[in-house]
Amino acid sequence: ASSGMAEAAGTVITGLLDGGHEAYFVGGCLRDELLGRPVHDMDLTTSALPEEVMALFPRCVPTGLAHGTVTVLQDGYSFEVTTYRTESGYADHRRPEHVFFVSDVKEDLRRRDFTINAMCSGMDGVLVDPFGGERDLQLRRIRCVGKAEERFGEDALRMLRCVRFASVLDFAIAKNTWRGLMRQRDKLAHIAVERVRAEVERIVEGPHPQRGLGLLLRSGLLPRGKAPFPWTGSDLAAAAARTAGLGDLQDARLRWALLLHALGSSAAAADELLRAWTFPGAARSSAAAVLRVREAWDAALSSARPEDPGATEGLRRRWIAAVLAHGQSAAEGWLTLLAAAEASAAPAISTGAVPAGQDVPAGPRAQLLRSWTAAMPLRSLAELAVTGHELAELLQKRPGPWLGVLLHKLLLAAAAGAIANDKQLLLQEAQRMDRDEQ
Ligand code: ATP
Ligand code: MG
Repeated sequence: ASSGMAEAAGTVITGLLDGGHEAYFVGGCLRDELLGRPVHDMDLTTSALPEEVMALFPRCVPTGLAHGTVTVLQDGYSFEVTTYRTESGYADHRRPEHVFFVSDVKEDLRRRDFTINAMCSGMDGVLVDPFGGERDLQLRRIRCVGKAEERFGEDALRMLRCVRFASVLDFAIAKNTWRGLMRQRDKLAHIAVERVRAEVERIVEGPHPQRGLGLLLRSGLLPRGKAPFPWTGSDLAAAAARTAGLGDLQDARLRWALLLHALGSSAAAADELLRAWTFPGAARSSAAAVLRVREAWDAALSSARPEDPGATEGLRRRWIAAVLAHGQSAAEGWLTLLAAAEASAAPAISTGAVPAGQDVPAGPRAQLLRSWTAAMPLRSLAELAVTGHELAELLQKRPGPWLGVLLHKLLLAAAAGAIANDKQLLLQEAQRMDRDEQ
């Protein structure tokens, strides 16, 4: 943790102690601190009741009073302060029906999911660790507090959290915990899709996505063969085997594009799937756009005839059209995947082959496509030296759909270098195109 955050949290704990209550750092922040991982937030647990917490700190938000959680704002940081509690009655396999405030911190630790998350420590730095969490950190394993089967039955989301922690931390899963998970795996169906997505997102975007996919596959948690999880176990197995480079991709959007591609998803299906998974619009459309570039390129390759002397030039034009249609960033994303596939012994994507014309240098295709992109003198209508208004005036026609079509033809010609991006030349070309139409 930043020392500022730890200091501010210390101020909150001291305030609670001075008020005559107990208070500790708890959960993920201790786990990450002990592992030497960055701590992104600090949760506190206290014997004080929510209203007592509110009375002690002028700046706080009653985040979840019924569950005993108050957010305290201190020195520019915010901390979730939760009253010691136990829970009971998980009729929906997700949320407890009853919450009871208790006076013993060990009772509070008992309700937590895994031993490595069920430790707390006070201002003296002494660890309160009734379930052997520190030892499990050393042994690098995820183990439930109490009976795994029961704990997963209470709250089915814990099963995905189990796989997520095992994947992100690269930990093993204790035998009994795994057995309990396998017995309860069908209960994941009770969990809202956005909660599932958030966990899978952290697995795919974390440091060991391959490990997480492998665990998801073996657990049988995800693939149910129906929306929004349309994959079978063998789809996932194939994808897990073919996406070896997944963890090397920095860009989360590319990880999703590669994974969905390896799962056999078309761009349209990927877009739909990410929507069904409640992905935010921007992340969804940029991942799908990468797959659209791939589809455009595949279509270009499959229609090219190598014996045709103009084949390479045709391909170059179609590549440029794809860059214009789907955007430079999507095109670059696709080239990153293509380059990785070309460097890999077991590529997740087919690298295709550009017809062997005399003018095509041998070598990686990603490099060739990159050089085609780099040589584009312009990339968008905004950079074109004529406007729609000027074209309508020159041709003395009312603006309409024809205008967009004409502008894009000119853009493609200029971007491919067939004509200079010069107003007079473009106007002449527009006139010629217009005459040819008639
Ligand atoms: P991270 O914030 O990195 O996801 P975390 O362990 O802090 O990890 P949170 O979701 O912030 O996870 O939860 C804080 C603590 O609350 C956990 O460390 C754990 O003790 C407890 N907890 C969270 N979710 C559950 C759950 N579903 N069942 C039982 N305990 C839970
Ligand atoms: Mg946390």
